[in-house]
Amino acid sequence: MAPSSHFSFATRAQSLEQSDIRAVTQRVEEVGGINLGQGICDLPTPEPLRAGAQRAIADDESIYSHYAGIEPLRRAILEKEQAYNEVPATSPEEVVVGVGSTGVFVTAAMSLLEAGDEVVLFEPFYGYHRNILELTGATVRSVPLGGPGSTFDPEAVEAAITDDAKVIVVNTPANPSGKVWTREELSDLLDLMERHDLVAITDEIYEYMLYDGAQHVSLASLPGAYDRTITLSGFSKTYNVTGWRLGYGVAPAPLAERMGLMNDLLYICAPRPLQHAALAAFEDLSDDYFEQLRDDYAERRVLLCETLEAIGFEVPRPEGAYYALADFSPLAATRDGFADDAAACETLVQEAKIASVTGRSFYEDPADGRRQLRFCFAKELPVLRQACDQLRGAFG
Ligand code: GLN
Repeated sequence: MAPSSHFSFATRAQSLEQSDIRAVTQRVEEVGGINLGQGICDLPTPEPLRAGAQRAIADDESIYSHYAGIEPLRRAILEKEQAYNEVPATSPEEVVVGVGSTGVFVTAAMSLLEAGDEVVLFEPFYGYHRNILELTGATVRSVPLGGPGSTFDPEAVEAAITDDAKVIVVNTPANPSGKVWTREELSDLLDLMERHDLVAITDEIYEYMLYDGAQHVSLASLPGAYDRTITLSGFSKTYNVTGWRLGYGVAPAPLAERMGLMNDLLYICAPRPLQHAALAAFEDLSDDYFEQLRDDYAERRVLLCETLEAIGFEVPRPEGAYYALADFSPLAATRDGFADDAAACETLVQEAKIASVTGRSFYEDPADGRRQLRFCFAKELPVLRQACDQLRGAFG
């Protein structure tokens, strides 16, 4: 066989490398440390979902489903989107079940974008968004948004929108910053979208993780927005099933139909037994589940943010999601090993056996993230406490 250097890879594959988010998981496993890097969410899966998965296998729900998902699940998602998100969808035809919200993001991006198109993405961004958008051949234009308490400059967005602009991406609550978009911000954005005839893809996968009274607002719920918005979410984060790869999108029927066909082409369908199991999330869990989830994450957020502050990080408090994007400048002033984000990440692995994600992963220009690390607090409480003890032990 030819040595791998002889392969002539497609341009789209040439620049691929393991993401920083995954790489740090590998690194921290080498030292037997605690992973606050990758947002794995290794909390227990609720019993009704686990039982539902076992039942679906026992019942032999094993063949392909409709390319956009089984009908009862599409209907349950529709009802959830109407009730919780206030999205004015009216039929299961407007729902596409796919391979994780990332899989549905791929079907949306592939359905709308191609070479010559442009897409606006707010920074700091989730790297998978950026890289998937680039895979379509479209050009990504980044606009600074910042974290909690920051917002975008409408003139900067305006400047990023050229005649080729077609799509704008909104992630609320945001990974990595924990920013939750307000109704006013979404309304300003909608105004821009209408003036420039843009479609939004909104990633709302962290929609139930909200703190200090923050409210989740779906862009598609604003008057006039639904016709030009694809709303994405999924089961991974809310029900601790990141490995199930089950997500969904809601969009006006012509868009949803196109995304369904793209889903068929790329994946045929989402894993069928798990689609049946996911029904339990709607049928067997009450609203108490979301309240408990919120309280549990609120406690973890305080624990992690206060620990990071105590050892010399500046920590803008996340309003949602389960990450803290923290600035280590004060710590860098007093210690070696913090020359930049890559050095700081490695120092934390070596001295505290704690994984985090380098700030550069979330910016077009790596220099913009050179003082930041992202920490995930979706861990069992004793594990998070142990992680905080290790951080205080090494840097306190
Ligand atoms: N969404 C999670 C994160 O941001 C997991 C991503 C991944 O494993 N690629 O960490």
